[in-house]
Amino acid sequence: MTVGPVARDADTAAFFDAAASGQFLLRHCPACGAISAPQSAQCERCAATDLDWRRAIGDAILVSWTVSHGRPGTDPVILCIAELAEGPWWWARLEGGEPKSLSIGAPLRIAYRHPTPDSEVVPVFVPASTATASG
Ligand SMILES: [Zn+2]
Repeated sequence: MTVGPVARDADTAAFFDAAASGQFLLRHCPACGAISAPQSAQCERCAATDLDWRRAIGDAILVSWTVSHGRPGTDPVILCIAELAEGPWWWARLEGGEPKSLSIGAPLRIAYRHPTPDSEVVPVFVPASTATASG
């Protein structure tokens, strides 16, 4: 399974600009201080819509996962939901992990991939034990 080209729009431009430089952005609410998921249009705590961006530290824990089997002859892909250290959940590919060795709560790190030349850089998760110091 491949990730098709991911394209930006006005609402996602800041997120993808940051991803291209190895940063994962979350929504921050100046009114109450809450952190919300990147796709949030309003604060998940107080419903304010005047949100700014904050950089995530890049740590997460595994919440759930599934193995997606593509066409015969292609490698299976692990898709997961992870809870970021800041609280929001994010779903993405999990690379570098063996399905049989995964467990709920396993420490993960965010990494970045450029799946195709016409795609934005996208975040993925990797087991924290295999993550490099960059990103
Ligand atoms: Zn708020």
